[in-house]
Amino acid sequence: MSRFDGRVAVITGAASGIGKEIALRFAAEGGIPVIADLNLDAANATAAEIKEKGGDALAVAMNVADEEQVEKAVGEVVARFGRVDVLVSNAGIQIVKPLVDFPFSDWRKLLSIHLDGAFLTTRACLKHMYAANYGRVIYMGSVHSKEASKLKAPYVTAKHGLIGLAKVLAKEGAEHNVTANVVCPGFVRTPLVDKQIPEQARALGISEEQVVKTVMLKDTVDGEFTSTEDVADAVLYFAAARSNAVTGQSLVVSHGWFMQ
Ligand code: NAD
Repeated sequence: MSRFDGRVAVITGAASGIGKEIALRFAAEGGIPVIADLNLDAANATAAEIKEKGGDALAVAMNVADEEQVEKAVGEVVARFGRVDVLVSNAGIQIVKPLVDFPFSDWRKLLSIHLDGAFLTTRACLKHMYAANYGRVIYMGSVHSKEASKLKAPYVTAKHGLIGLAKVLAKEGAEHNVTANVVCPGFVRTPLVDKQIPEQARALGISEEQVVKTVMLKDTVDGEFTSTEDVADAVLYFAAARSNAVTGQSLVVSHGWFMQ
């Protein structure tokens, strides 16, 4: 028997990068991932990839910052499978600019995807988790849940905020056997990071190679990027937890960039 046989996980932002890896790995261990993403074509492609490998998956269109879309998509999931066991709130974007010039519209956009998205998907799934007396909620934080970097004011703010949300849910969810934890990766080579390298190079007036070496990986123990597999391992550990023993926690997966 596999760890996630028969379990259903709503994974936001699972059409790309870290979320996609989590979906593939959850399916490989017998679970049914719901690929909830803004980009429905890419979500369908991920679901098709899982089905080709003999697994099951569902792609749903979801803007995590839109209350109606979140409620509708989670409703579809429950109508189809009758359950939501795991939520991985992972969808996210990055916008890098100095604080002094940060447009208010960009600040609000980033906070709404990361924080409103985490809240709305949590609330929508929680009703069903409470009814089933079981749930595992994992938020995708970042080393920036613990640490700051220049040019990332709303991202650092949002990622710190997720730790607060997880701690509240850990307390409220305990009597319903619902746990909440945060995984905090270092830099992972996904489209989100590939886009940032030239942007940071321009903003800081250095080469792209210098951004990687002197900004992104400078403080790691081995000069290596964190991999999507590294992050998925941590997420699936929290998803498989047998009790409330590990809840309200945050785990940094960053090749030693940040040490608690
Ligand atoms: P990615 O760009 O590869 O994937 C993000 C996915 O989220 C995309 O499929 C995109 O369509 C989707 N998305 C964006 N806005 C959405 C919305 N409003 N509603 C639904 N889906 C939406 O990025 P990634 O690197 O895999 O990042 C995933 C998460 O991991 C993010 O929360 C990010 O902050 C976090 N993270 C990434 C890194 C890294 O270095 N890549 C490090 C730490 C944390």
